[in-house]
Amino acid sequence: MQKFTCTACSYIYNPFVWEEDIPSGTAFEYLDESWICPHCGEDKDSFIETPINIQDISRSGIITEQESSHIPFYKEQGDSIVIQIGTDDTPHEIEENHFIEYVGLFETDGEIIELKLQPEEDTLIFENPGFDEYEVRLSCNIHGVYRGIKIE
Ligand SMILES: [Zn+2]
Ligand SMILES: [Zn+2]
Repeated sequence: MQKFTCTACSYIYNPFVWEEDIPSGTAFEYLDESWICPHCGEDKDSFIETPINIQDISRSGIITEQESSHIPFYKEQGDSIVIQIGTDDTPHEIEENHFIEYVGLFETDGEIIELKLQPEEDTLIFENPGFDEYEVRLSCNIHGVYRGIKIE
């Protein structure tokens, strides 16, 4: 699910954050046509897709403490994919204003295969996803989207 930005005021509609009167996880496409920007009142047509900016940590040699707290490390365990958010020493905080929006499995073309919203734990399991090619991504509401790094 994409975030959408209001071209008039730069407000970002984020389906992973709960808004008044709209259940979290509601894709922009499913918002009522009469929905307006809660910040400036512009109509739905004024919104454009917010580009996803993925932080490609696996290519940079050195990983900072802040980066390592955002990486969804993963390994395959039988038919399941086990994900750990951050390292043991650098878990990601779960705070009211700073949290993980989702951890998901994406196909290489960006299609979402499976998504877990606002995980409460550092460790998550995708049971039997039933495909071989995927990319693990994590989105932090402040720091953006990070790719997973596989643990061999
Ligand atoms: Zn607006
Ligand atoms: Zn963060």
